[in-house]
Amino acid sequence: MVESNDEIHRLLNAIALKNAYEHSGITNVNTVLSRILSFKPELKSDITTLIKEIKIVVDAVNRLDLGQQKKKLDDVHSVGNTVDSSSKHGITNLHELPKLQLAGTGVITRFPPEPNGYPHIGHAKAVIIDEEYARMYDGKLILRFDDTNPINEKLEYYEAIKQDLEWLGIKPDIIKNTSDDILVLHEYGKKLTRNGDAYVCTCHTDNIHKFRMEQVECPCRRNIDNIDFTLERIDKIFDGTYHQNEAIIRFRGNMQDKNTVMRDPTLFRIIEFPHPLLGEKIKLWPTYDFAAPVEDSLDGVTHALRTKEYELRNILYINILDKLQLRKPIVVEFSRLEFDNMPVSKRKIKQLIDNGQISGWDDPRLLTLLAMRKRGFDPKAIRKFVLSLGLTLAETKPPFEALESMNRKIIDPVTIRLFFVKDPIMLVVDDGKNSKITLSNHPTNDLGTREIEVSNTFYISRDDAILLAEDQEVRLMELYNIKINNIDWENKKVITSSYLNKDLVRNMKKIQWVSDKAMTKYSIVVTKDLYLNDKFNPNSLVTVDGYAESTVLQLKSQTQVQFIRFGFCMTGEKKSSAIFTHR
Ligand SMILES: [Zn+2]
Repeated sequence: MVESNDEIHRLLNAIALKNAYEHSGITNVNTVLSRILSFKPELKSDITTLIKEIKIVVDAVNRLDLGQQKKKLDDVHSVGNTVDSSSKHGITNLHELPKLQLAGTGVITRFPPEPNGYPHIGHAKAVIIDEEYARMYDGKLILRFDDTNPINEKLEYYEAIKQDLEWLGIKPDIIKNTSDDILVLHEYGKKLTRNGDAYVCTCHTDNIHKFRMEQVECPCRRNIDNIDFTLERIDKIFDGTYHQNEAIIRFRGNMQDKNTVMRDPTLFRIIEFPHPLLGEKIKLWPTYDFAAPVEDSLDGVTHALRTKEYELRNILYINILDKLQLRKPIVVEFSRLEFDNMPVSKRKIKQLIDNGQISGWDDPRLLTLLAMRKRGFDPKAIRKFVLSLGLTLAETKPPFEALESMNRKIIDPVTIRLFFVKDPIMLVVDDGKNSKITLSNHPTNDLGTREIEVSNTFYISRDDAILLAEDQEVRLMELYNIKINNIDWENKKVITSSYLNKDLVRNMKKIQWVSDKAMTKYSIVVTKDLYLNDKFNPNSLVTVDGYAESTVLQLKSQTQVQFIRFGFCMTGEKKSSAIFTHR
């Protein structure tokens, strides 16, 4: 079988249970077989093994009574199982999230971004899932700025995160900062160290690393039972006697643990750098490993949704709360949202900005929400896309086209259509007359009309021009039919033609045009993959020049237009330019 037997078994079980429950408790091999093959046609390659497996599953399910089937079905549908998300690319058509475990008594979720950069599509996924669950159970969503590393954090980023969430349509019930609770966090830090579940370590960073790798305890930890020694060091770290890099607080884990996270991780460190909100008042800052569980617990969070990258840290999260005797939220994991060749890591983005390879956080090649907004993505499409992915744990990268296609469906009915010709070639209609024509802005929806002045001179796109032949009859879109007389590529690249009639002729080639009486030079910035083979792609931004009809000059910046046969664009700050959204 192509995929792990475990996963196939889980899927078969889920399908059989659902079918049995819907049919008075009885399912059969054929139904399960056809369902699984519609999900995973690749399993046909070993159908004998598959049928054997299905027989076992069907027998087991049919032996259960309805009540037992219902209970198992509920388990299958609760978080952690991916039956609904197993289609190609992890995209389902269900647009709904699985139920949460133990969600009967109210749900509080939280979104804890660090204000150290602009939020991107991955943050959108997290916060949308957080909010959907809060709404699904009539609960609450907390937006909590995880601001305990002042070196990277700026007021600008708190604001950017708030604005982008607002754009996404997210309405947090509570907004707070981890730094609001810094003194409370210090109290819990004192409790942990005084109980001997954490200790002050004054070893050099290199030694800490070395001891971790060698799985041996450092001298500070070995002395933990020396009460005077320990208490003095605790006082010194909390009263500010130590300076940066002189001491940290470490969790008393297990240096033999296979999971290196548990080898006495750092819980507090001294950072002598002004905090964007608290200035220089505070120097001892908790790590995310310490702040997240304590804050989640104190904030009443019932379900802490974390991406799978925290998998190895979850045990630490639970351990800290155990030692502090604090209530433990349920940790729910989901996979990070990433796309090929489109990095979202803040470190990488900052580097690209510093190197001058991209213009800033709003560079159209980025998947920051700011860039996506400027490029013409609708927040409704982003939400729909995120929900279509479900809560899968599989680290698949969905195709970006799937998001584009959802966006297209949303913007197409409300976006005006205009003419743009790239790489223009002059076309003269010898007997063409001056006139004013009125065109609809959308073929089916009432998005208004526009007037265009025409003479006998037009420009058409080179792509269209090279396909024309002498004597060919073509239609100038929405205008009239012409006959091509002469194509003069050698000299001025001029095409001459003569007026035929206005009749709509079936199958006649239609070409779009701009009128020399009503046109403007226009540039469209088109983005390509930012990375190629893990390296910056120097050709990731391409400018397409041409002529647009002058109607475009009346549009405000950040207006969506569709240039016919070219694609959707957002008008730029300069009147004569736009950013390409997608086709
Ligand atoms: Zn030490």
